Amino acid sequence: MKQVPVFKPLLEDEEKQAAQDCLELGWLGMGSFVADFERRLSEYLGLTDRRLVCVNTGHSALHLAMVVADLGAGDEVITPSFNCVSDFQAILQVGAVPVLCDARDDNLTIDVDAAEALVTPRSKAVVIMDYGNGLCDYEKVQAFADRHGLRVIHDAAHSMGCRHKGKMIGSFSDLTMLSFDPVKTVTCLDGGALVVRSEAELARLYELRILGMGQPPSVMYQNKRAWTFHVNDIGFRYHMINMHAAIGLAQLGKIDKISRTRRETCRYYMERFAGLPDLRFPLIDLENITPFIFYVRVPGEVRDEFRTFLLDQGVDTGVHWMPGHSFGILKNCRRDDLTVTRKAAREIVSLPLHSCMAPEARERVADAVVGFFDRARGTTPGSASLRRAG
Ligand SMILES: *Cc1c(COP(=O)(O)O)cnc(C)c1O
Repeated sequence: MKQVPVFKPLLEDEEKQAAQDCLELGWLGMGSFVADFERRLSEYLGLTDRRLVCVNTGHSALHLAMVVADLGAGDEVITPSFNCVSDFQAILQVGAVPVLCDARDDNLTIDVDAAEALVTPRSKAVVIMDYGNGLCDYEKVQAFADRHGLRVIHDAAHSMGCRHKGKMIGSFSDLTMLSFDPVKTVTCLDGGALVVRSEAELARLYELRILGMGQPPSVMYQNKRAWTFHVNDIGFRYHMINMHAAIGLAQLGKIDKISRTRRETCRYYMERFAGLPDLRFPLIDLENITPFIFYVRVPGEVRDEFRTFLLDQGVDTGVHWMPGHSFGILKNCRRDDLTVTRKAAREIVSLPLHSCMAPEARERVADAVVGFFDRARGTTPGSASLRRAG
């Protein structure tokens, strides 16, 4: 039986046509498609007092966020242990030190009160991440950051296309990072973006992303390059290429379909799973959400069994994520007791969620999940470990 995969990209005629157009243009590096993608993305996000720069990965965007925030050796960056490896590595890459705080039990985003307790005079920034289909408490985060003079780096890799109080995610934070990697809601095959507040930061990013070269976008965006330029700063090879931007443009063109169908599948899951006593999932209003991951929480003692059962029914699952404090490279980082994180890390399971997901696929997922709990409760013969687990 072919497994229902956790992720599945929506690639249709538009993406194939975009790739062909780009190959026929023959300018494969940064050029006019990148200009168009940045413009369309800025419009979609409704940027008014923010500017964005596209780069080759979301990780590069996070690293550049650390650089433009002037973080470096001796600086502490507070972030949930419940975060992506990419965020920890970006902090470490500039020589700063992650300080790990706990997450909120209701949606596994940053527990700002826990973060507050970890502040020292060396604290310089806080990295927050929206998770699955849940958003951070941005007002509380910003008030916390203002109290302590911290930069806020907002990892919005999961919340592309979401809205908060009428504003698109990406349009209001201090620094926002987006990812368009192979599995994200909107993919460029690979890609990322960083949204910043000032023209000075924008100008700096235009150089940092292309080896520190004063290679003006106004030239490159015409599919040309300058042959003389200055290099005044350490830079990185992080620019986005035309092919990736072309795919991204095709994807942005169908963002409404992507968003609507992902929401529909989440609502379907929520209906099917209502009333299962040993299964938790965030009960949120999806009206303003473009969901990236649909995760559930099962009792830690049965998670392996649950995942194996689903696999046997042809349903693959994932775990997002292993918490930061479990990694050797972060073993010496200061942290709080991480009570919620430790528990959640043993319970979370990501179920398959695709744009335009086939009805048979999502039914198979829901049947398998419901079937596991029916079986465990003795409705059908089989495992009794859930009862054992109490
Ligand atoms: C995907 C992801 C990243 C990294 O983005 P890439 O484009 O894969 O480099 C960072 N943070 C979160 C939360 C992610 O989901």
